Amino acid sequence: MPIEFKDYYAILGVKKDASPDEIKKSYRRLARVHHPDLQPEKQKAQAGEKFKEINEAYEVLSDPGKKSKYDRIGPGWDAAQAPPPRREARQASPDAESFAGFSDFFESLFGERGSRSQSGRPFRAGPRQGQDIEAELPLSLEDAFRGGEKKLTIEAPALCPACGGSSRQGRGFCPDCGGVGEVSQNRSITTHLPAHARDGMRLRLRGQGAPAPGGGRSGDLLVRVRLLPHPLFKVSGVDLETTVTVAPWDAALGGEVAVPSLGGTIRIKIPAGTRTGRRLRIAGKGLRKEDGSRGDLYVVARLDIPESTDGRMAKLYEQMREASR
Ligand SMILES: [Zn+2]
Repeated sequence: MPIEFKDYYAILGVKKDASPDEIKKSYRRLARVHHPDLQPEKQKAQAGEKFKEINEAYEVLSDPGKKSKYDRIGPGWDAAQAPPPRREARQASPDAESFAGFSDFFESLFGERGSRSQSGRPFRAGPRQGQDIEAELPLSLEDAFRGGEKKLTIEAPALCPACGGSSRQGRGFCPDCGGVGEVSQNRSITTHLPAHARDGMRLRLRGQGAPAPGGGRSGDLLVRVRLLPHPLFKVSGVDLETTVTVAPWDAALGGEVAVPSLGGTIRIKIPAGTRTGRRLRIAGKGLRKEDGSRGDLYVVARLDIPESTDGRMAKLYEQMREASR
């Protein structure tokens, strides 16, 4: 019988450009649905075939080496060119164990290396690295500026406590994780935020990502800093911008105003002849740079008159009107 090409993407129901995460999600969903142990006795064998196919597809598409080989060959592969399948690696008995085998197509592509590994794991060939996980860390500007220890809770995959990531219990698949070897868990993480943290900055926490069921290295956790909008400051790189209200007489004659800054309120000089929209630079009051120095704070002047005008002030405004004629 000629060896049939298997469309692993179709089997997992993913697009060809699906991300590792999408492939994994789809696999986990399908593996749960088609798990032989969850089927009525009569449908076990049939579900087992399907389960085996899903596992095989995942075995290939989740392994960068196998995936690229598979992608290179594509549906145009020539069955006649394929080496004969290694029959001896396969089992004929119809018990649950046989769901662990691989198709002739798989074995002709990857040989017995892809088959049952030395560790006895049915679907995973040797240790491999766990996946990286991304998480977001929303921070107020003040918190980011302060730096230091930050706590966040993430939902991350962990090795299934029931089967220890082996996917199996006894001679069957682990019912707790549906044979995936992983479960989702909320995890509390403490990370050290550098004092120059900025929006979009990624912190890599080595080994805090998804575990590797084959005994390999865990993936990394990538924490992305997201600065929350601030009511007073606009952030632009390491510079900040804020607006300050200036009274007409300070604007005309020069004066001093209170300005908010990250370290608390400061007083700055308003030069004589300041008009609305003028940007005053206050050096070194912005965010921290990597070298420890700081960006600048820009203060934009906005002219306004006091809310109430008494008789004396009205007289002075009159005089100003006279003088400007
Ligand atoms: Zn399990």
